[in-house]
Amino acid sequence: MTGKATPVTEETLNPFHICQRQLLEACQALGLEPGVYEILKQPMKVMEVAVPVIMDDGRVKTFIGWRSQHNDALGPFKGGLRFHPDVTMDEVKALSMWMTFKCAVLGLPYGGGKGAVRCDPRQMSRRELERLSRGFIQRVSEIVGPDKDIPAPDVYTNPQIMAWMVDEFSRVREHNCFGLMTGKPLVLGGSAGRSEATGRGCVYTCLEAMKRLGIAVEGARVVVQGFGNAGSVAARLMHERGARIIALNDSSGGILNAQGLDPVAVLAHKARTGSVVGFPGAQAISNDDLLQLECDVLIPAALENQITARIAAGVKARIIGEAANGPTTPEADEILLQRGVLVLPDILASAGGVTVSYFEWVQNQSGYYWPEEEVNQRLEVWMVRAFNGVYRMYQEQKVPMRQAAFMLSVKRVAEAMRVRGWLG
Ligand code: GLU
Repeated sequence: MTGKATPVTEETLNPFHICQRQLLEACQALGLEPGVYEILKQPMKVMEVAVPVIMDDGRVKTFIGWRSQHNDALGPFKGGLRFHPDVTMDEVKALSMWMTFKCAVLGLPYGGGKGAVRCDPRQMSRRELERLSRGFIQRVSEIVGPDKDIPAPDVYTNPQIMAWMVDEFSRVREHNCFGLMTGKPLVLGGSAGRSEATGRGCVYTCLEAMKRLGIAVEGARVVVQGFGNAGSVAARLMHERGARIIALNDSSGGILNAQGLDPVAVLAHKARTGSVVGFPGAQAISNDDLLQLECDVLIPAALENQITARIAAGVKARIIGEAANGPTTPEADEILLQRGVLVLPDILASAGGVTVSYFEWVQNQSGYYWPEEEVNQRLEVWMVRAFNGVYRMYQEQKVPMRQAAFMLSVKRVAEAMRVRGWLG
């Protein structure tokens, strides 16, 4: 292997460089031909768009957005669309690359893509968000489609946003294209179980890991960082299985109760007040302290670069189940390895969402819809199978779970590129 990756420092923490480094390590460990890294180190295409929106006060404001299509050797590009005020193009490129490997770890017939718009949806009205959503999909309409590139929800986007985009695209194409997006509302061809799928999938992988380490679910101490779509569901499902949710937080602050919090009651509190902060009977806890609590399972379900080297040095969890994309930095990974923490990497543990997106797309193609129990059962089968594949690689190759997951997926993508003749 002759490839070189840009060095990653704890100061810069550019997710794109992190991702390239993870890819390079996997290519080297597998002894792959140099062409594999050469092709995969960059997205195949990145489109930048400027979307002017007439705001409610009558002024025009332009928002910048991207769609990054990393690789489609295994099938159409697939991945979410995030709305966030701090998002950068490199972040979108990294997230699209992680999607390629996430889909490949699960064995889904997809490549990887990701999109984003730099905006703060919390400061925008419903009508402004609708205009932005419609404007964005118009701008990228030539590169997306049910057989080309299929977007889905991600940070701060939701089924309503998917619905506006499907509607706009369907108007442009002059026929209903429900298969364009996944994570749609049920009435518009969404799948039962999709909204819970990321949290649920993460729980399935954590339960498998707990079995391997001999940790009983009943009474297990669980900490959840981030109480959005993934974190709140993961907390609730763990709680339903008898685990104790000792702490959780959101972007406004954290709460702790060693006896255990009831995630359903916390969700109701958040719906009422806008945050988990001030939940009755709980103590306040900072983000750093929360990540370093003594617990059996820590579920980071927020953003990238949360578990840095500094944080990792104090992590006392036995298992980390990454429901977020890219929450752990490479330096932190090494420290966690030394500390004996089993890290279930994002490309495995956060893959429940895209797996049920795949089910949704299959249901759209066939026009036949499955009941929720069936979706959940199938999701469990897919997640457990993927976990077992990665765990086997981890044991056989004696590499961390993240590297095992990368090796498994890079191998699959490389094989597809080889048979397609891309590698010469
Ligand atoms: N945004 C989710 C992820 O990062 C889901 C993507 C999808 O369903 O296509 O995995």
